[in-house]
Amino acid sequence: MRIDLHTHTARSDGTDSPAELMAAAVAAGLDVIALTDHDTTAGWAEAAAQRPPGLTVVPGVELSCASPVTGADAIGVHLLGYLFDAEHPAFRDARVRLRESRHGRAEEMVRRMRASGLPIEWDRVSALAAGGPVGRPHMARALVEAGLAGTVDEAFRLHLHHGSPYYVRKADVDVGDGVRMVRAAGGVPVLAHPLARRRGRVVGDDVLADLAAAGLLGLEVDHPDHTEEDRRHLRGVAGELGLLCTGSSDYHGTNKQTPIGVFGTAPAVLDTIIGLSTGTRPYAD
Ligand code: AMP
Ligand code: FE
Ligand code: FE
Ligand code: ZN
Repeated sequence: MRIDLHTHTARSDGTDSPAELMAAAVAAGLDVIALTDHDTTAGWAEAAAQRPPGLTVVPGVELSCASPVTGADAIGVHLLGYLFDAEHPAFRDARVRLRESRHGRAEEMVRRMRASGLPIEWDRVSALAAGGPVGRPHMARALVEAGLAGTVDEAFRLHLHHGSPYYVRKADVDVGDGVRMVRAAGGVPVLAHPLARRRGRVVGDDVLADLAAAGLLGLEVDHPDHTEEDRRHLRGVAGELGLLCTGSSDYHGTNKQTPIGVFGTAPAVLDTIIGLSTGTRPYAD
């Protein structure tokens, strides 16, 4: 059994449609994928309707969160939620607010870039987001198309990284609240790539313990942005706190280099996640 519990489609900042994502999973020899677009469940219906026979799809989300820090900017963190009820009102409203915040923030980033002479077009950024949650990868592709960067990765390094003068924060959800909302909606919360330092500051073990006390159920240990040492450390912390360990590719289509299925999750861990969830079922034969 090969299981990849973190992937994105063009419903957020990946480049494959849900059907293309599932075809890519089958072609890579995967048995199970989770669909975890940023702040939206918009891809769930297409995944359920067009799922190839034999592939199991775990509906999920990757929620934009923040971990508060006294006397400093909050640390941005991502929370994976699996098998929750997408209609749970408080959680659904939180996703709507996150998407609205993304929109205003992206307009402001484009305004700042234009004001300093980078002729990026808001209409193009908006079109690339196709009505979904707009993010920096859409700005990156617009910059590449306009000849202002060679690749998406270079667009991040030149203009879109968190230290850039054009960078604007979104109004993220407090991560403890995120954990409680996923649980209230019958889902299983897993902290995504907790030690991905390339994206900025990361949380300490004290925060992981606090989140476990708040109801967090797992840590994403095996992830392309973690070193061997990070993975060993997180496995130890998960053991101490009684948390599940997951692994994934965080596949984004052609917006990132990472192939689907590079890291995986153990079948027993997936069984536990399914057993702990009460919000919805995987899409399966
Ligand atoms: P945002 O959610 O709008 O702040 O954008 C963050 C997203 O950008 C992440 O979820 C990644 O998908 C993507 N990202 C971050 N760094 C890079 C990079 N260097 N190259 C490509 N994509 C990136
Ligand atoms: Fe992303
Ligand atoms: Fe993430
Ligand atoms: Zn992701």
